[in-house]
Amino acid sequence: MKTARSIHFVSLGCPKNRVDSEVMVGVAQDRGFVPTDDAEAAEVIVINTCGFIEAAKRESIETILEMAMHKQTGSCRKLVVTGCLSQRYSGDLANDMPEVDHFLGSSDMLSLGTVLTQAAPRIMVGNPADWVIRASDPRTLSTRGASAYLKIAEGCNRSCGFCVIPQIRGKQRSRSIDDVVLEAQHLADSGVLELNLVSQDTIAYGRDQKGAPGLAELLERLGDVRGVEWIRVHYLYPEKLDERLLELLREHPKVVPYVDMPLQHAAPSMLKRMLRGGSTNLRAVVERLREKVPNVVLRSAFIVGHPGETDAEFEELAGFLRWAELDHVGVFQYSDEESCTSHALSDKVDDETTEQRATALIDLQRGISRKKNESYVGRELTVLVEGASEESELVMVGRHAGQAPEVDGFVYLSHGPVQPGTLCKARVVSATDYDLLAEAEPNDAAPRRPKSANQSTAVRRRRGVVSLRTVS
Ligand code: SF4
Repeated sequence: MKTARSIHFVSLGCPKNRVDSEVMVGVAQDRGFVPTDDAEAAEVIVINTCGFIEAAKRESIETILEMAMHKQTGSCRKLVVTGCLSQRYSGDLANDMPEVDHFLGSSDMLSLGTVLTQAAPRIMVGNPADWVIRASDPRTLSTRGASAYLKIAEGCNRSCGFCVIPQIRGKQRSRSIDDVVLEAQHLADSGVLELNLVSQDTIAYGRDQKGAPGLAELLERLGDVRGVEWIRVHYLYPEKLDERLLELLREHPKVVPYVDMPLQHAAPSMLKRMLRGGSTNLRAVVERLREKVPNVVLRSAFIVGHPGETDAEFEELAGFLRWAELDHVGVFQYSDEESCTSHALSDKVDDETTEQRATALIDLQRGISRKKNESYVGRELTVLVEGASEESELVMVGRHAGQAPEVDGFVYLSHGPVQPGTLCKARVVSATDYDLLAEAEPNDAAPRRPKSANQSTAVRRRRGVVSLRTVS
């Protein structure tokens, strides 16, 4: 009997990259390869890199070098580097890293098939403008529980001064609404309950095509997909959200009242320097959201140490956070990318100050997060069960609708038993800075399985059969 060939994937960076990695796993499986968690035993190793900021680039290079060691000590015969770093620097990387056999870009997921089965060129970096994921592409999910990312567009039409994404991923290309809905139905048929909509600029969905439906229409159509229970929207640009979108967030039974809106800063002078469009009166944006969607959970991300950020502007940002009491916050230290507009600005902030500012914001938010979490104690929540916790196989973890996968906290579940991949009821008994502890009602419901009528799509939409080594 012919032995299947094994392949190991490392997926770095954001959920958008994660979806690309899942497509490549699907491509490899279609060519007869079997994914393995054991890099030492894999015949092929693929590293899907991130090139967003300096730290991500460094991590990507370190990972490539680490994986290259398996060519000497393990079974690796082919080392493939893909993704944003490779898209940006394939020529330089090819010179500096003779141990890498092939370089693909951020839009060459399907070309992996060629690399795996034919004599392929060493550099196969295509034009990102040619690529948008389609429902017919093979994809194997790597997310836990019954959750999946759903990429609704590629690229970005904005020009924020600090961001290199439009240079790497190109202008925005929205998928057709029918294709997104078709993929959502495939995902639901394979047992997915939660769809996490991602793209670079989700609120701009459809705007790149004249007369195309927008985000609100997409959410309404996704709300009709059989089997989906939660629809979550990530990366909304801080624009005035239209009434229809707010109504969906407030009233639609499947669109969770969760708004992930990266604000990047709060001082209007800084936002101007960062070339952020939209409203600079972010207090008004938050007030309107809370007025229109009373139970909304808010997540945001901020950059500290951008050129020109004064002590007063940083204090304005900290004051905003104290006032807004957002539920979840990510803090990033500015990274000076040579091809970005912000790079040309003077008044750079030194590394020590940038780090101090990041630490101060994280400490500030920790207290706010604790207070927010304590407000859940005594409440009954619906929890999507992900699986066993990292600490113990005996303790299950899940998330309530106000917690997004991989970036927010968990609900640790006692009592039960509860089944991974199902929804359960749980009463919160205590809170920590970022997580909740809750007593779950027993739930023996089996996770949904693909229907036989959808078997062919289920083969292409495999789920839970592979774990990518992911770093985000
Ligand atoms: S909207 Fe986001 S992805 Fe687009 S340029 Fe701005 S920061 Fe980058």
